[in-house]
Amino acid sequence: MNTVALKQHASWQEILASTINSSEELCRLLELDLEALPEGHPLLAGFPVRVPVPYLSRIEKGNPDDPLLLQVFPSIQEARHVPGFSDLPLQESQVNPASGILHKYHGRALLLLTSACAIHCRYCFRRHFPYAQTIPGRQAWMESLDYLKEDTSIREVVFSGGDPLTLPDRSLAWFLDALADIDHIQTVRIHTRLPIMIPQRVTRTLCEILAKPSMRTMLVLHANHARELDGDVDLACQKLRNAGVTLLNQSVLLRGINDSVTALESLSERLFSAGVLPYYLHMLDRVNGAAHFDVDDNTASTLVRSLQQRLPGYLVPKLVREIPGQHSKIPVMDMT
Ligand SMILES: *Cc1c(COP(=O)(O)O)cnc(C)c1O
Ligand code: SF4
Repeated sequence: MNTVALKQHASWQEILASTINSSEELCRLLELDLEALPEGHPLLAGFPVRVPVPYLSRIEKGNPDDPLLLQVFPSIQEARHVPGFSDLPLQESQVNPASGILHKYHGRALLLLTSACAIHCRYCFRRHFPYAQTIPGRQAWMESLDYLKEDTSIREVVFSGGDPLTLPDRSLAWFLDALADIDHIQTVRIHTRLPIMIPQRVTRTLCEILAKPSMRTMLVLHANHARELDGDVDLACQKLRNAGVTLLNQSVLLRGINDSVTALESLSERLFSAGVLPYYLHMLDRVNGAAHFDVDDNTASTLVRSLQQRLPGYLVPKLVREIPGQHSKIPVMDMT
């Protein structure tokens, strides 16, 4: 850690509690002379700066264009209103059959377990999401679990949020036990950025909980750039694989961050060296405040075609867009 001193062997909870929470502090720590939005700026209301120290330590000092920095540094461009962009681009409230559950695709139901994340990604499609109205308490969860019990077509449950791994192990264990009791649910998948953001999150207890013999467990990471992975992330991935967890990664295609063949190629190769296969490369969801990250369909398809010529097929992520009302993510290569 070259920027902020955390005590050695800090627990993941301590690291999570000591995130950097202002752009002024980011500038100071990274020796940047940028126009920082001051704390209390209206743009930051509801979606403040949030950067965990392990991620901060991978950002290059003094480089305003660092691809890791750009993911977390709020820009005045977030204030732009761009046609086609909205607060809730995915219209998820229409696929919300029980509290905390999004059921959009056949066989798979997604649980919104928490609104908390270790990091605030400026392009996040849920940055304006009404979590307070969506995430149930324990009692309401019991009712939502009944929904999962009753629909025997549901084979897989996806833990999402926020970041589900911000929950304490005992809560995760409670959910996993409840799902293990439902015969038709065979797979649990966790969508999380935490093993990248705070690799210390992957504790022995977590691995024990995930190594459930009664269900298959998959973990889908979210890294957008090769430099997000370091030796600590490798170690976290290794522990998860030893626990029998299948590891995939999803990325978002982001202008100025990973919209080049070299960046995408390095990302795939770096993931593979950590034992992770690329899964999806998402087109940006058109959420207000994120328009400056948008890459158009033609550019995106061309990038992925070049990637296909340079990498084995298993290292090429599927380029997809999420379209409200559709029954799966939609491949973009078919549209161009
Ligand atoms: C993306 C998503 C899934 C998972 O889709 P896969 O194509 O299986 O990865 C499930 N439910 C919802 C609501 C989703 O948005
Ligand atoms: S980790 Fe995921 S849910 Fe959390 S802010 Fe980033 S993109 Fe959004």
